[in-house]
Amino acid sequence: MKSNIILMGPPGAGKGTLAKRLVAKYHIPHISTGDMFREAIKAGTELGQLAKDYMARGDLVPDNVTIGIVEARLAQDDCSHGYLLDGFPRTLAQAEALEKLTAKLNRPVNLVINLTADEAILVKRISGRRVCKNCGTPYHVVNVPPKVEGICDHCGGPLMQRPDDNEASLKTRLAHYYSDTKPLLSFYEAKGYVTSIDGMQPADAVLALAGQAVEVK
Ligand code: ADP
Ligand code: ADP
Ligand code: ZN
Repeated sequence: MKSNIILMGPPGAGKGTLAKRLVAKYHIPHISTGDMFREAIKAGTELGQLAKDYMARGDLVPDNVTIGIVEARLAQDDCSHGYLLDGFPRTLAQAEALEKLTAKLNRPVNLVINLTADEAILVKRISGRRVCKNCGTPYHVVNVPPKVEGICDHCGGPLMQRPDDNEASLKTRLAHYYSDTKPLLSFYEAKGYVTSIDGMQPADAVLALAGQAVEVK
């Protein structure tokens, strides 16, 4: 079983949706840098203050800050039997730092799941995305509606639109994805770690294929 996992893919590919289901199935911690920044903003911490404007514009939060929070999180005891990194690394500097720190911790990455989707689909997904204000579960107004409009199925929290899910920010996020993040795939492909999955399939099919990649010996 491969349980030190990186989940990669452009904004809207379905990383958060798949991550929630994989961590529930395999009982490993979900480490989403985007969620960590959003929680820091909600809590009004210094980290949140720092990340807020970058996120609103769709720019990347500086590497030293992002690497620092992942380093602290991966060192925690609950990551000793696996972890799922969602949205990290996004730059070469982050990937290099991750190599060093996972070697030091003896928790090396052994699987990269790469979710793909056409840009037209990404735009539709991002514009229709709603997230639970309490627990962060993603929904979609057409594809994944909640049972009761505006209310989270899991925790009853209110659904909201992310402030960065607008056209201008998405354009910037896609540009960062193509220039900074997508090139990292070749780094992991050279190591034989990458399983690519068509993220335009129904979420159940995506989960089944990801599960096969995790369970392979
Ligand atoms: P990411 O974390 O990669 O940005 P999300 O998991 O938040 O992506 O998904 C983006 C949007 O697309 C959400 O509104 C989500 O409900 C929807 N979505 C995710 N996976 C699928 C899927 N396989 N089919 C249809 N819609 C999906
Ligand atoms: P998406 O679901 O659209 O892929 P995320 O929730 O992963 O977006 O990230 C939201 C925002 O948080 C990013 O646009 C960026 O500003 C910031 N962020 C998240 N992860 C990173 C990272 N690894 N490096 C730099 N910035 C990040
Ligand atoms: Zn909720």
